Amino acid sequence: MKQRLSTEEYAAGVAAGDRIILAKAISLAESSLPEDQEQALALISKLTPSKNSIRIGITGVPGVGKSTFIEAFGKYITSLNKKLAVLTIDPSSQVTKGSILGDKTRMDELSKNPLAFIRPTASGNTLGGTGSKTRESILLCEAAGYDVILVETVGVGQSETSVKNLVDFFLLLMLAGAGDELQGIKKGIMEMADTILITKADGDNLKRAREAQADYQHALNLFSDNQSGWKPNVLTCSALNGTGIREVWHTIELFRDQLTQNGYLDVQRNAQRITAFHESFEHLLKNELSKFPGLREKAEALEEQVAKQGLPPHRAAAKLITLYREAVKKS
Ligand code: GDP
Repeated sequence: MKQRLSTEEYAAGVAAGDRIILAKAISLAESSLPEDQEQALALISKLTPSKNSIRIGITGVPGVGKSTFIEAFGKYITSLNKKLAVLTIDPSSQVTKGSILGDKTRMDELSKNPLAFIRPTASGNTLGGTGSKTRESILLCEAAGYDVILVETVGVGQSETSVKNLVDFFLLLMLAGAGDELQGIKKGIMEMADTILITKADGDNLKRAREAQADYQHALNLFSDNQSGWKPNVLTCSALNGTGIREVWHTIELFRDQLTQNGYLDVQRNAQRITAFHESFEHLLKNELSKFPGLREKAEALEEQVAKQGLPPHRAAAKLITLYREAVKKS
């Protein structure tokens, strides 16, 4: 019989690094049941936040080599005796059982490593969007003693921006090669990258990878300077033969040292918390609105008027607030 753990039991288990309890706590945070949400929030407020973690976002088109890289990178990180958590966001699947993650061979070796914890995470369109669920999962992993947190998005899409808002360091994996230099990767995503990593720099592809490295570095140099003072770089690696992996970690360490010293790491995390606050508020507000019967239909009618009858969007929003206030008064 499934027995519910108390918040204290969850907290003690997570703090002790118990992987089963950690996995359960993440499920609790991902649950859309109000009582689970409440307990997850109570749990998170009980946990001691980690000071020394580094949160790394990884993205790139399917087939670029993300899981192979994470496997090799994870092997290296754990060889340094660091605990690594990999949270994989699959935007194609609400329940995280989509076709991509259904592939059991993804990060097979790493998943058996006692220092690694791999977890697909719901992209969750429910209360809070991608950000809120993954944010809570990150905090839970950190409280369980994981010092390196990788947040991987499967596929390129909208989730990049949300992931950028959750991590300290954003790693964009790209393929070198004929004509695909900018394939599938929007300029905006390149601008978010702290490092671009050209994958599969081996065999016949090595020369092309080096050329792509120079091209991308040139492209990055054209972007305006980062507020953080960090100058994004381009690296190459081969997860297949293990080259370039330690250089990625070395860059991340340099990044962390530099941004810890100039205080930007904290500035960025605080700004992310503020963004999360506003996002949560918007979601809660929407949720609140949906509780009033008839208000959704009225909102749809307003949408129609905005789209087809030239009602200014701001006026429509103000109208919806008025309708909401009236509904509250009546209730
Ligand atoms: P993902 O979809 O981004 O997770 O990509 P995968 O890690 O599944 O890799 C896609 C394909 O590229 C697989 O067939 C891998 O074997 C291959 N691959 C990944 N890394 C390398 C590499 O470093 N060198 C070479 N030659 N092939 C690689």
